[in-house]
Amino acid sequence: MRIILLGAPGAGKGTVAKLLTALDGSVQISTGDILRGAVKAGTPLGKEAKGHMDSGGLVPDSLIMGIMEQRLQEKDCQGGFLLDGFPRTIPQADELGKLLTKLNIKLDLVANIDVPRDVILDRLTTRRTCSNTSCQEIYNIKSNPPAPGDKCKKCGSPTIQRADETVEAISKRLDVYNEKTAPLIGYYDKLGKLLTIKEASSDGVVNAIKAGIAAKK
Ligand code: ADP
Ligand code: ZN
Repeated sequence: MRIILLGAPGAGKGTVAKLLTALDGSVQISTGDILRGAVKAGTPLGKEAKGHMDSGGLVPDSLIMGIMEQRLQEKDCQGGFLLDGFPRTIPQADELGKLLTKLNIKLDLVANIDVPRDVILDRLTTRRTCSNTSCQEIYNIKSNPPAPGDKCKKCGSPTIQRADETVEAISKRLDVYNEKTAPLIGYYDKLGKLLTIKEASSDGVVNAIKAGIAAKK
């Protein structure tokens, strides 16, 4: 499948993407994970991205497009991809459209995962992420806690609260989402690609996406 996952921070895009990759071998492409990896590795890209990310703001479009232009041409994308956290702005969506035309790729669907703000706030403040950059498993201290000692169940590394998961940074990210990313809902609706999903569970969202793709074929 070739889909975009749209939704506010904490809507569950990453979790849903991981479930979907298990279905048909499509790869998850998370710009947030790529950027966090670059920050950790201390690359020039990471150095430029870090300040924007820690404050809850967006990384400049030009940086993101450079990353995605390369990433979408890697071999593993031929079996399909799930874009998680990209595009995030109208200019990114415009550029992505041009890129996909150039690469002769057609999107199946844009899934808009619509979750109420209070649910999102609760989820984000209780979220923990594996600190191992090649793992990045996500936990929730209430619903899916890490192993004793706050260790990752998959790789044993410590789990951490991200710098952008303080209350201030979270409100900033939600404001940025409403201002810069939410307009993509109308954008993709006009293109006939949009499916809005209001399921509470990740499995419910996955099933709605499967049904949505089948209906568009
Ligand atoms: P979220 O949980 O907010 O969806 P992500 O892991 O997707 O978080 O992204 C973390 C941060 O990385 C964002 O707050 C932003 O600073 C940066 N980022 C990720 N993807 C993009 C993008 N497509 N455009 C600009 N900035 C991005
Ligand atoms: Zn781990």
